[in-house]
Amino acid sequence: MRIVLLGAPGSGKGTQAKLLSEKYRIPHVSTGDLLRANLAAGTPLGLQAKAAMDAGQLVSDDLVLAIIRERLKNPDAKKGFILDGFPRNIPQANALDAMLRNIAQPLDAAILMEVDFDILMQRLTGRRTCENCGAAYNVYTNPPRLEDQCDRCGGPLHHRADDNEETIGNRLRVYEGQTKPLIGYYRDQGRIETVDAVGDVKDILKRMIAVLDPIAKGQRKVIVPVKPVPVPKASKAAAMLKVDPKAAKAALKPGAKAAAKPVAKAAPAKVQAKAKPKAKKPEPKKAKKKEVKKKDKHKKKDKKHKKDKKKKHKKK
Ligand code: AMP
Repeated sequence: MRIVLLGAPGSGKGTQAKLLSEKYRIPHVSTGDLLRANLAAGTPLGLQAKAAMDAGQLVSDDLVLAIIRERLKNPDAKKGFILDGFPRNIPQANALDAMLRNIAQPLDAAILMEVDFDILMQRLTGRRTCENCGAAYNVYTNPPRLEDQCDRCGGPLHHRADDNEETIGNRLRVYEGQTKPLIGYYRDQGRIETVDAVGDVKDILKRMIAVLDPIAKGQRKVIVPVKPVPVPKASKAAAMLKVDPKAAKAALKPGAKAAAKPVAKAAPAKVQAKAKPKAKKPEPKKAKKKEVKKKDKHKKKDKKHKKDKKKKHKKK
């Protein structure tokens, strides 16, 4: 199963991705985690990404795509994966589609996790994570028993550097401007599924599983929605069909019977100017014969007239 988790920062993508990764035994691939790991290890890639991450802006597509390409080459990604925080914009989604097309393993679905803005703010500012085991807490909604200490392993709790109000504001703005258009992108592909991501983590997980089980079993079909074709205006339709615009208008009216008749094509001006004069039509044969007969009659009359004249002359 190959899926993308979509949602604003704080919508719980990371938390759900971890749980779903255990259930479906496919890797959870988070570009945010990969970037933070690079940053912690002081790699050149991590150092390059630092400024953008600290400001709550997107790291360059080139960097993120290089990380994703490497990660998806791992053998564990052959069975599928859950992408969290990637893609973050349309160019990244296009690149992912191309990558998956190359290996003939298209995405199965994009799951949109929906959460109201106010809840997002509370989740982000109150978020704490155990540095040791990765357990997630929230000081408002799911506080640890002891402040700054993990209930599970006693490890220290960490407050992410970019979970301060100023950076959070930037991250939400980036989401609205660049990541949200992905909802339409995947909707057009027939791949979007929406899950209400408010409430208890376990309840949200149940909703996620209800959507993902059919996908894991190969029962979900990707049905690309057909966009309605706009009805062209009469003048446009006329131009397209080379018909009389008035006739086109009439034909486009509801209940119109006859289709508009094409207008005879006029010859281009140059051709018209050069056109040879029309050859005279040959006269019908009958008319020609009559003419010949007439001429003969006249000839005979003339001869007779001349003979009579000669006779008269002789008599004199
Ligand atoms: P996240 O943990 O997913 O909230 O990501 C933390 C930060 O890492 C983001 O605010 C970005 O600066 C950077 N980041 C993570 N994923 C991406 C991505 N797909 N494209 C660009 N920047 C990213």
